[in-house]
Amino acid sequence: MDETIAPERRLFCNRTLNVRGLRAIGFDMDYTLVHYRTEVWERRAYEHLRERLAARGWPVAELDFDPEMTTRGLILDTELGNVVKANRFGYVKRAAHGTRMLDPAEVRRIYGRQLVDLRDRRWEFLNTFFSLSEACMYAQLVDLADAGRLPGPLGYAEIYRIVRSSLDAAHMEGALKAEVVGDPERFVEDDPELPLALMDLRASGKKLLLVTNSEWAYTDAMMGWAIGRHLGEPARWRELFDVVVVEAGKPAFFETQRPLFEVVDVQRGWLAPARTMREGGVFHGGSAAHVEHLLGVPGEDILYVGDHIFADVHVSKEMLRWRTGLVLRELEAELRALEAFREPQRELDRLMAEKERLEHRFSLARLALLRLERGHGPRVTESPEQLRARMTELRARLVERDGRIGPLAARAGTLVNERWGPLMRAGNDKSHLARQIERYADLYTSRVSNFLYATPFVYLRSPRGSLPHDPGA
Ligand code: IMP
Ligand code: MG
Repeated sequence: MDETIAPERRLFCNRTLNVRGLRAIGFDMDYTLVHYRTEVWERRAYEHLRERLAARGWPVAELDFDPEMTTRGLILDTELGNVVKANRFGYVKRAAHGTRMLDPAEVRRIYGRQLVDLRDRRWEFLNTFFSLSEACMYAQLVDLADAGRLPGPLGYAEIYRIVRSSLDAAHMEGALKAEVVGDPERFVEDDPELPLALMDLRASGKKLLLVTNSEWAYTDAMMGWAIGRHLGEPARWRELFDVVVVEAGKPAFFETQRPLFEVVDVQRGWLAPARTMREGGVFHGGSAAHVEHLLGVPGEDILYVGDHIFADVHVSKEMLRWRTGLVLRELEAELRALEAFREPQRELDRLMAEKERLEHRFSLARLALLRLERGHGPRVTESPEQLRARMTELRARLVERDGRIGPLAARAGTLVNERWGPLMRAGNDKSHLARQIERYADLYTSRVSNFLYATPFVYLRSPRGSLPHDPGA
C-alpha cells in the first residue's frame, strides 16, 4: 500500500487480497456505511435502556452514560460482574469489578488460572459500538447490586440477561430509531467521500450489495441521508447497489437457509415471498446462499465488509470462506495517539533493551557465584566478593532503569483510553480483539471511504509478520 496515504486512511491487510479480482462486495449498514456519533447514539440507547430498568423499580435514575467506561473488544465476565481485557491467548491483563478498576494483584488472584474462552456463555465479547451502552450500564448495575440496592437476590449473570433483553427491546421497539430518523444530523456522522468510493468500486465492475439487520424503512432513511443526499436526492442511494437485503438476521444469514421475501412495495414496505434474489431488488431475510446463487461466483470472490466482529466477519469467514473486511473507526484515534507517542515509545524500547542486557549480566554473575559456592562447572576467576559487588551494582542500575520505565509504560498503557489503553494491545502483546481481527478479518480499516484512496484495483499483500527468532528482533 502506498505510503503517501495518511495512516488512518489506509487499508490494513491480514491476508493477501486482490481487490481488483473481487466480483462482489457486500456491505453492512449500521456503523459500517452509516457511522453514528457514538456518544450521542449510545447515550440515547442507554437512556432508553435506563427507562426500561426504572420501570422494573431499579434505582437507576441517577446513572449516566460514560462513553469512556468501556471500549470495543473488552469482555464482560457475567459470572463475576467484571469487565476484562484479555491478551491474544485469553489471559486477563486488566479488569474492573463493576466500575472499579482492580489492581494487578487482584487480577492475578482472580484470573491467574482462568482463561477467557468466548465459546463459554460466561463471557460476552463487546463486538460493536452498539455494545458500549449495555456494558456501561452493566458495570454500574454491578455496583448497585454490591451495595444491596437492586431488588434481589440477583446474580451477576442474571443482571446481564436483564440488561441484554432490555436493550434488545429498546432497539426493536422503534422509539429510538424514530428519533434517529427524525434527526439524522444529530446522530449520524456524515462522510461525503463515501458515495464516490462506492461509485468507483461499482464502476470497476463489482456488484455491490447491502446486507443489514436493520428494517427497510430505517435503512431507506439512513442510506438516503448518508448517501442519497449527496447524489442529489435521498432515494438515489439505491442506484449504487445491485441488491439490498434488510432484516438479514446476521449471523444466521450466513449460517442457515432462511425464508426469503421481497419488499415489493418500497413505499409501504409490503412483502411477498420470493424464491430467488434478483438484481435491483430489495429483499427481506433470506440467506447467503441466495446471494451466492444470484451472483454465481465462488465465495472467495465476494468480500463482505462490516463492523460486528462476530456477526459480520467471524461467521461469514468461518461458514462461507467469503473474504472479509472489518470497519474499525477507533483506529483513527488509536493511530493518532500512537503517532504522538512515537518518541516516548522509542525511549521505552531502548530502556527495555538495556534492562534485558543488565538482567542477563546479573544472571551470569549469580550463576558464577552459585558454581563457586557449589564447586562445580568451569573455574570462576573472580572472588565471591567481586561477584557480589557486581550484582549489587547491577541491581542498582536495574532499579534506576525501572524508575524510568515505569512511568513510560504506564503512559503507553493509558493511550486512547485512560482505563483500558489501546484497543489492539494488551501490555506488550496483542489484545484479544487484535487476535480476533487477525483471524477473521482479511482486511481492516477505519471507514469504507478509505477505498477511495486505495483504489478498486489495489493488491493488498499481507505483511511478512514478525517472529520472536527474526534476526534483529
Ligand atoms: P447492521 O449493523 O446494519 O447489520 O444493523 C444493526 C442493526 O441491529 C441495527 O438496526 C441496530 O439497531 C440493531 N441492533 C444492534 N444491537 C442490537 C441489540 O442489542 N438488539 C437488537 N438489535 C440490535
Ligand atoms: Mg453494523
